[in-house]
Amino acid sequence: MRRRRKALRANSFAALFADSAARDSCHGAREGHPPELARRRAAPAAAPAAASARRARPAPVSLPQPPAPESGATVNDCPASLLAEGATLNKVTMGAQSDSRCAIADPVRIESLALRGGQRVDLPDRPTVDCAVAQTLAHFVDEALEPLVKGTFNASMVALETGPGFECRTRDHIAGAKLSEHANGLAIDIASITFAGGRVYHVGKLADEAERGFDHAVRAAACGYFHTALGPGADAFHASHWHLDLESRGRNGESKFCQ
Ligand SMILES: [Zn+2]
Repeated sequence: MRRRRKALRANSFAALFADSAARDSCHGAREGHPPELARRRAAPAAAPAAASARRARPAPVSLPQPPAPESGATVNDCPASLLAEGATLNKVTMGAQSDSRCAIADPVRIESLALRGGQRVDLPDRPTVDCAVAQTLAHFVDEALEPLVKGTFNASMVALETGPGFECRTRDHIAGAKLSEHANGLAIDIASITFAGGRVYHVGKLADEAERGFDHAVRAAACGYFHTALGPGADAFHASHWHLDLESRGRNGESKFCQ
């Protein structure tokens, strides 16, 4: 029995290790798992082999090895996992930039995001961002923004105005300042939300107390997904949009800066 437990535990460790490697590739990933991992977790444990080894000692038991990823697919493929969640996007290749520090590790251009109810949220600006940002945005929009929109406006959102995402520039366009997180594809802005029926909510134009509460709640929620969440009132540069980014902050890289 002890040996069987050990075999099961070793098997679980192998699954957990593969799992954490998958998460590391796309920080901000949802707690769901790609089909490949799900299959691996569901694979039968080493119980029969362990039981027979217990009877016929001392033959060593070799633990089953995790299957190799299918050709063309890896468990770390962030764009593939986003596509599987229903987003539409394209991998892109970055051309030469005016500043060689401007680069994106895993660039994607997002066309739309999927909501769990089956609706689609269009991103007409087709922003280019690092896939980790795309994935964090997808989860934030589906899990937090959509319910807040429903609760505040009794409406469904159909589009988000984001701007280009990637921009090779310094922070707040100030000459000589530190490079913006937009320059590494780690930031995304939201300037407006279009609801079904055509009504548009413009960030920063707060008509009443309900909209003020909405702005506050969206930014508080965004701070749980992103490392930085800024908006109207933070400073003059963010008076008309929410700025969300995954800048590495603090000792573990996940400290927050939200205003
Ligand atoms: Zn921004």
